[in-house]
Amino acid sequence: MDMQAVLEEIHEAVRPMIGSGTVAEYIPRLAAVNPDQFGMSVVMNDGTSYGVGDCEVPFSIQSISKVFTLVLTLDRDGDEIWTRVGREPSGAAFNSLAQLEYKRGIPRNPFMNAGALVVTDHLLGLSEAGEQPLLELLRAEAGNPAIAPDPLVAASEADHADRNSSIAYLLSSFGNLRNPVGDVLAHYFEQCAIAMSTRDLAAAGAFLARGGIRQDGTPVLSPRQAKRVNAVMLTAGFYDAAAEFAYRVGLPGKSGVGGGILAIVPGKCSICVWGPGLDSSGNSMIGMAALDEFTSRTGWSVF
Ligand code: GLU
Repeated sequence: MDMQAVLEEIHEAVRPMIGSGTVAEYIPRLAAVNPDQFGMSVVMNDGTSYGVGDCEVPFSIQSISKVFTLVLTLDRDGDEIWTRVGREPSGAAFNSLAQLEYKRGIPRNPFMNAGALVVTDHLLGLSEAGEQPLLELLRAEAGNPAIAPDPLVAASEADHADRNSSIAYLLSSFGNLRNPVGDVLAHYFEQCAIAMSTRDLAAAGAFLARGGIRQDGTPVLSPRQAKRVNAVMLTAGFYDAAAEFAYRVGLPGKSGVGGGILAIVPGKCSICVWGPGLDSSGNSMIGMAALDEFTSRTGWSVF
């Protein structure tokens, strides 16, 4: 298969959609992003990479960071995190706190904000250095030492943090945060504010398509753990639209309100697509369409 040609065809097919959707307005710095951008990258399991459009433009990875914080937690502390966070789809918005009350402070999964805050707290307990292990992982896997948080995005999110603060205080009230709420939130915002291109992210996630193993044969995760991360991506990676993504695309994936989506074709490749305009669930509109095109054209889906 000529992957570069496939990506170029997809680019043409979705071109009329460039600019559609709504940029995330609740983080003012994200609302300022030019919506007329689209990039897509594929990194094959043999390491070859392909890209189209704005595939080298860094964007805010936002909730895609949650995949990598979960990976770090599983790697450093095994299954311990599952005593604090569930792994069921939420069927709720990314920033919902409704379920927290009746689940007594145990978030439904690690990819909604409540669950990610607990993962961040857990990681802080394993390492004083906060987001440093995450940056090291992303830089090493993407082969790009320049990857860093955008301080303006982190500050913008911290300035508009009523919702995430409410979630964190509720978690804390149930005893499911071990560090001060302010510390957990600050680290969480830094993680979400990391800027990467689709090329960086497709490369960083490539080990998930190789059963947890890097191209050089060294492990990031065991195959069993990688299988589990992919399973949580499939069932909980798209807020209240996980089933819609499975229906249209049929791959494990994780989206972020910066408009990025990381998707994994186990055994074949890692894909990242970016377009800042979101649908009503917070998923990139053009990203969903491009991945729908990708799996329909290649036949590469888990179904
Ligand atoms: N930093 C965002 C928030 O907490 C992440 C949301 C997302 O990408 O799902 O609201």
